Amino acid sequence: MGTALYEAGRTVHNKRIDGPFRRFKWAIMAITLTIYYATPWIRWDRGPYAPDQAVLVDLANRRFYMFDIEIWPHEFYFVAGLLIMAGIGLFLVTSAVGRAWCGYACPQTVWTDLFQHVDRFFDGDRNARARLDKAPWGAAKTTRRLAKWAVYLAIAFWTGGAWIMYFADAPTLTRDFWTGTADPIAYATVAVLTGTTFWLGGFMREQVCIYMCPWPRIQTAMLDEKSLIVTYKDWRGEQRGSLKKAAKNPGAYGDCIDCQLCVAVCPTGVDIREGQQIGCITCGLCIDACDRVMKETGRPRGLIDYATLEQCDAERAGAPARPAWKALLRPRVFVYFGVWAAIGAGLLFALGTRTHTDLTVAPDRNPPFMLMKDGSVRNAYTLRLRNMEARPREMVLALEGLPAGAVMWTDAVSLENAAKTQTVSVDANATKVLRAYVMLPPGTAGDDDGLPFTFRLTSRDEQRESDAQQTTFAQPTSTSPEDN
Ligand code: SF4
Ligand code: SF4
Repeated sequence: MGTALYEAGRTVHNKRIDGPFRRFKWAIMAITLTIYYATPWIRWDRGPYAPDQAVLVDLANRRFYMFDIEIWPHEFYFVAGLLIMAGIGLFLVTSAVGRAWCGYACPQTVWTDLFQHVDRFFDGDRNARARLDKAPWGAAKTTRRLAKWAVYLAIAFWTGGAWIMYFADAPTLTRDFWTGTADPIAYATVAVLTGTTFWLGGFMREQVCIYMCPWPRIQTAMLDEKSLIVTYKDWRGEQRGSLKKAAKNPGAYGDCIDCQLCVAVCPTGVDIREGQQIGCITCGLCIDACDRVMKETGRPRGLIDYATLEQCDAERAGAPARPAWKALLRPRVFVYFGVWAAIGAGLLFALGTRTHTDLTVAPDRNPPFMLMKDGSVRNAYTLRLRNMEARPREMVLALEGLPAGAVMWTDAVSLENAAKTQTVSVDANATKVLRAYVMLPPGTAGDDDGLPFTFRLTSRDEQRESDAQQTTFAQPTSTSPEDN
């Protein structure tokens, strides 16, 4: 007989419990779901030249809007910075309060919790659900199941539908969606997300945390004896025994009356008395359950508690229990917080000091210059002028650092009007691509390395924002064919 490598899934029918951690879970669920479903519907007035959706990922125009902040493609470092902050934030939370992300805020946890409440609504609490599960299929069970799955499907569809609203104007997309005129990708995205939410939240549930998600493995590697975890204080609870047994043999039994309530309320079906397990998402519901039992039996709370292994060892040796928050005061937490806060401060500084005028310059490489009949030398450049304000603006494009006689013209201006500065108008929230030609009169050429100079773009409004880009004016060298 070999060892079975596959453990068949078992349905977890968790019991309803009330207590501080359950109420905290309710609050986080309400906040996260409200944010997710409602955010795309918040309007934000940005004037006539920009969308009025507060949070919008405008893929078509390559913009990301978040209230007053508008991120352009060349500012992707803001998004990268936010993603890095999110990653470090997870490390910070894990170091400070263990797997709190998994227990309260992870989407898989939140939606699983939601679906478990739907189960409770249709099928009753733990025992009734277990009985119904085992009952043979008949009209009553089929009707209940179909009704419940219909609600699963409605939630899943709503979830998928909310996601696409982040990528287009929500009222317009909703109308297009229901009139069959939305982009096919919108229907495909909703179909995929409806299917995955229905399956992962309705049926896979804790299996996702235990078998599919990599994050528990990474977190496990980050936890040590100073990390806060949900733990059963075995030196206090063992030997387990019912109240009846304890009454018959005073002093022979610990505080655990083996009522199994901690197991019954666990959303992932874990028995925390068996020690740390990857299935424990540290939601604290077993603490609520056990604290209730301890209260009812007149024993001190905290047989199951948030504590570090170090604290547990000290308590086992007779030291008094320390408040859990003291586990937060450790160098690792401060280091993660410092890095996280430094990146956040850097992003805020960059946001606060960025201008809404931006210029990029690309010199022509082939040919790098043109030698004119009269001995003048001409270079060509492709310029991108960005007006990141939600209104059209006049901008001045100027040459800096070239010798007297240098002139510039663009594909919007004729050679006759060449000058050292040019005025260009750029539409609101737009990038204008210009071809610019710069010419030096005969005899002003420098050495063989080319002539460094600067294009400067300055807005002509009251803000006088400007951006400058250094580039090079290429010239004939002693070996250039044009020179011969
Ligand atoms: S709820 Fe508390 S008393 Fe009951 S079995 Fe769990 S640890 Fe023991
Ligand atoms: S063992 Fe306790 S903390 Fe862990 S998942 Fe179950 S109920 Fe939540």
